[in-house]
Amino acid sequence: MLHVKDLKVAIDNQTILDGLNLDIKKGEVHAIMGPNGVGKSTLAKVISAHPAYEVLGGSIHYKGQDILAMDVAQRALEGIFLAFQAPIEIPGVNNMYFLKQAYNAKRAKQGLDEMSAVDFLKLVKEKTAKLGIKADVFKRDLNVGFSGGEKKQNEMLQMSILEPELFLLDEIDSGLDVDALKSVAQGVNKLLDKNRSVLLITHYQRMLEYIQPDFVHILHNGRIARSGDISLAREIEKNGYAMLEDVRSVS
Ligand code: ADP
Ligand code: MG
Repeated sequence: MLHVKDLKVAIDNQTILDGLNLDIKKGEVHAIMGPNGVGKSTLAKVISAHPAYEVLGGSIHYKGQDILAMDVAQRALEGIFLAFQAPIEIPGVNNMYFLKQAYNAKRAKQGLDEMSAVDFLKLVKEKTAKLGIKADVFKRDLNVGFSGGEKKQNEMLQMSILEPELFLLDEIDSGLDVDALKSVAQGVNKLLDKNRSVLLITHYQRMLEYIQPDFVHILHNGRIARSGDISLAREIEKNGYAMLEDVRSVS
């Protein structure tokens, strides 16, 4: 599904990722952990083609294709989805209209007709019911005035409608209380199957008890410094990142 090789990425002339290797197979869930500022979000953003990041070297292959040459829209249409750590508010862009456009772009790629507004609303109702969330909030402008939990639910609604194959989930637990976290995690689990893969960025072992990872990696010094299973996350929960030498403390 995803093959990242010797990836070097810079922002503002500062190298953030420096020779990172990562392989994610179909159906696998990989968790990425690591201290603040090590480049976890950078990795997710560079896979989804965020324009601020400069790829200095290495390669990213997705479903066998070199995606570095593809723009953000092409990657999204191929099934890559990034759930933001902090979803931005876009006043003036209606959330439903935005979602419908994205959905219809995907249908066009599949050679299907555009879905009408009426049918689309039906689809949204069905998906929100499945996720156990109320649809009304999502008729407002994109993320505008949404609570932290509602922003994350909106990301989930997007995922359930766009049905990505590679989920890049960047701290979808941030700003959520325990119950909201559980419901978001359960929502994600409902969307997963053996053909979909997840790169899950989190600080919390609690998240990994809900969305169970096949592998846990620690990002440090621009690359994957340690890999293991859930027990690695439990060790971090207990001892922090003391296992890594030379951890810069970021306040
Ligand atoms: P993490 O998600 O692991 O906390 P990030 O990937 O967000 O870390 O950030 C990695 C480094 O890149 C940090 O030092 C951060 O300050 C820097 N960085 C991120 N975005 C920008 C930006 N837009 N401009 C300059 N530096 C940035
Ligand atoms: Mg981050």
